[in-house]
Amino acid sequence: MERPWEGAFEPFRVFGNTFFSGTIPASTHLIDTGSGLIVIDTGYQETLYLMLDSLRKLGFVPGDIRYIVHSHGHIDHAGATKALVELTGAETFIGTGDLDMVTGKRPLSWAPEYDMTFPGVFEPDHLLRDGDRITLGNVTVECVATPGHSPGTFSLFWNAGEKDGRTVRAGMMGGAGLNTMASWYIRKYHLEEEDWRGAFAASLERCRREHVDLFIGNHTGQNRMKEKFFRLQAGDADAFIDENAWGKFLDGCEKDFSALLEKDPL
Ligand SMILES: [Zn+2]
Repeated sequence: MERPWEGAFEPFRVFGNTFFSGTIPASTHLIDTGSGLIVIDTGYQETLYLMLDSLRKLGFVPGDIRYIVHSHGHIDHAGATKALVELTGAETFIGTGDLDMVTGKRPLSWAPEYDMTFPGVFEPDHLLRDGDRITLGNVTVECVATPGHSPGTFSLFWNAGEKDGRTVRAGMMGGAGLNTMASWYIRKYHLEEEDWRGAFAASLERCRREHVDLFIGNHTGQNRMKEKFFRLQAGDADAFIDENAWGKFLDGCEKDFSALLEKDPL
């Protein structure tokens, strides 16, 4: 990544306890639990300084970070984790299936495909299993195993705040990209036996069972983040609240996935 600053984006409160602190190529989010911050995904190591700038602009300091939770172990989600742990001492959580990716035992972090080297292998403090709940302060993050994009992809759900006396539930699909399910990738890394495609189909179904009022993308295109940000700036405090956005996103994933199965059979 030659010019990381070109991906800089203004940090902002998405809703309630949930903040965007990432860049255009790599989303990171903060949850303010009242007893410290949970960071969801750390981005590239090259963009960590931008994430820390954002965190300070939002009124926090790096020492507020207590937990780092990963949607999955690819370089654009976990590349900065080692450095951020060294800075803050935060505890790390990642899906069991992505352990070998972040410890450097399997070259599946998508770094080779970007002509990059995974910059900081690390030993996670906690390995997530389906149904795990991570509680800090007044927030509990529900962790649902949704493999497919990677073996250890987890979708995350938490209560972001209240609106009109009702809880606003935030949700992030842990990995929607079909890049790792392309036939060339499966053959390159000999993943035929692992059936990532079958896992992804089941994960889409699993995600449909979750109710989400506040759809948080782990890439900015997923939830049309920029467009909603400008609506928020223009005074629409509920720009990101849309209980249909999650379902529509999953519909789009399913359509793209069907097209992949048809055009790129194994
Ligand atoms: Zn990924």
